[in-house]
Amino acid sequence: MGFLSDALSRVAPSATVAISQKARVLAQEGRDIIALSAGEPDFNTPENVRDAAKRAMDEGQTRYTNVDGIIELKQAVAAKFKRDNGLDVTAADCFVSSGGKQIIFNALMATLNPGDEVVVPVPYWVSYPEIVRLCGAEPVFAVADATTGFKLSPEVLERAISPKTKWLLLNTPSNPTGAAYTAEELRGLADVLLRHPHVHILTDDIYEVLVYDGKTFATIAQVEPALQARTLTMNGVSKSHAMTGWRIGYCTGPKPLLAAMTKLQGQSTTNPSSISQWAAVEALNGPQEFLSEWRAVFQKRRDMVVAGLNANTGLDCLTPEGAFYVFPSCARLLGKTSAGGTVLKTDEDFVMALLDETGVALVHGSAFGLAGHFRLSYAASDEQLADAVSRIQTFCAGIK
Ligand code: PLP
Repeated sequence: MGFLSDALSRVAPSATVAISQKARVLAQEGRDIIALSAGEPDFNTPENVRDAAKRAMDEGQTRYTNVDGIIELKQAVAAKFKRDNGLDVTAADCFVSSGGKQIIFNALMATLNPGDEVVVPVPYWVSYPEIVRLCGAEPVFAVADATTGFKLSPEVLERAISPKTKWLLLNTPSNPTGAAYTAEELRGLADVLLRHPHVHILTDDIYEVLVYDGKTFATIAQVEPALQARTLTMNGVSKSHAMTGWRIGYCTGPKPLLAAMTKLQGQSTTNPSSISQWAAVEALNGPQEFLSEWRAVFQKRRDMVVAGLNANTGLDCLTPEGAFYVFPSCARLLGKTSAGGTVLKTDEDFVMALLDETGVALVHGSAFGLAGHFRLSYAASDEQLADAVSRIQTFCAGIK
């Protein structure tokens, strides 16, 4: 028996962190690196939110809070779910954690036993299957590739569900593809789920505010209220208000589940940072007008990146509806050789050769469960993106 736990041995290290680490090492060696591998907005947290945190500190809001969040934040969360998502909830139906990730972790840890199954659409956010495995349960992968716009179809969902299924994990708009489900598409999934009352739904809506082209965001408990009693609707201020470092995520869901998550959180991190919670109250209750400006900036960047990647490069890039990622296919270039002499057998060879030869850091698709692709985050300046796209074009042109 070794020192490290069996649970830990089931978990893989994060590929996105590994690429970012390699990019940092190259930058320290003096290389000119453009890292488009991370997933956080390049804006600063709005001033009113920063001021609310300073006020909270000065007023002595510096102590332990309720495990599941201060009442003012839970009220703001309930108001947000009502206002933006049409969910009829009160503060008692809401729960706050140190980031959206801790919400997911708490929910799965509080419910999964060895042998349980969790349906995970592919490609997925890297942490989903790892958290499921850490809990001793099995991810069941349901393919949602480019042929369906990276969205899970009702037929594929139906086939993935078994008597052992405890959860379906949904993420819209998606990391890594940017795909956002329409209300009609969620309706199709809801119809399947209504036939399987033992399945709970965890929907990760953390990119909610980043939906483009005037389209409206939809979430499954809103589309089918009959599913609300077995849906955990997760969200957070990390991406919406450029607050990744503040660590505040929130959710609404069935009370017995929230009670279980409270019990677990009470024995781990206790409560999210009191100062961050007061900042999040201001983020949710304060002015939201800046969001449409940010959205317009991201949409322009998306359009520039998609056009550049499709410009006779051999890559195939769909136009995503949301988030700040594109997930192009590099399948047509695999099996060939880069200008620097690397045989590009896999998507990982592609991104590693691209980093070595041009200094652009991306993440290979197989890290998200779908080979032959890569993820590019366009949460970067217009200048950096234009430079990166031009380097990718040169790299692709050199492939023989
Ligand atoms: N869910 C998705 C799909 C994400 O991309 C991320 C962050 O990258 C998170 C959750 C985690 O959010 P937080 O930083 O609030 O824990």
